[in-house]
Amino acid sequence: MRKKIVAGNWKCNTTVKEGVELAKSVNELVLTKGAKDVVVVLGTPFTHLISVAESVDSSRVNVASQNCAAEAKGAFTGEVSVSMVKSTGATYVILGHSERREYYNETSDTLNKKLALTLEQGLTPIYCCGEALAIREAGSEKEFVKQQLEETIFLLPTEKLLKIVIAYEPIWAIGTGKTASTQQAQDMLAFIRGLIADKYTKEIAEEISILYGGSCSAVNANDLFSQPDIDGGLIGGASLKAADFLAIINAF
Ligand code: PEP
Repeated sequence: MRKKIVAGNWKCNTTVKEGVELAKSVNELVLTKGAKDVVVVLGTPFTHLISVAESVDSSRVNVASQNCAAEAKGAFTGEVSVSMVKSTGATYVILGHSERREYYNETSDTLNKKLALTLEQGLTPIYCCGEALAIREAGSEKEFVKQQLEETIFLLPTEKLLKIVIAYEPIWAIGTGKTASTQQAQDMLAFIRGLIADKYTKEIAEEISILYGGSCSAVNANDLFSQPDIDGGLIGGASLKAADFLAIINAF
């Protein structure tokens, strides 16, 4: 069954102390007021993972890294491997965020290595896809997203695909305050689910959680989450305020 998921992406924000305080506030709110059927994930910087994981109730709040190394271990100065991420207590890895694709030249080949390592370690990848504004304006967003999926997660066998969470994030809506309309988000998520049904089966497509991301907030989450194919959100800015993040968790 598709899970409802709200995952925060803190990006390059907060010191460790600030991050732990934020995680503790979210944890407290989730335990006391959070919808019980929603999976909550906090995507923190690498430096925060262990402290955040130790500050939350792991049965209600999960921790994610925002990236991982494309190699298992060895002479790769500055990199953080999936097994290191796992050793902190984190259980999710955000992969292929558009900021990593754009600013750090993350390609489908690199992502395939990261996906394989993440799945091998038993962590859940949150695989991001989505088009830039020029592609949307040219009307080729579906073709573009299809290609992103075909070059990466659609190369996986069924049992591995089933372990993945997909996040559709139109780049033009990330951090801009410009959300995709509810209809635009629903259309793309239904399209992605249809692609999974064609490539795998309809039953498999019904098992996979697909999230929307891009200026999702306490104000618009309810409308977005009411759509039949939107299983939750990947939340940037609004995940840095515990009360806003809770409102999004409770927006289904
Ligand atoms: C993101 O970074 O994944 C994101 C969706 O950011 P924001 O919510 O700030 O648009």
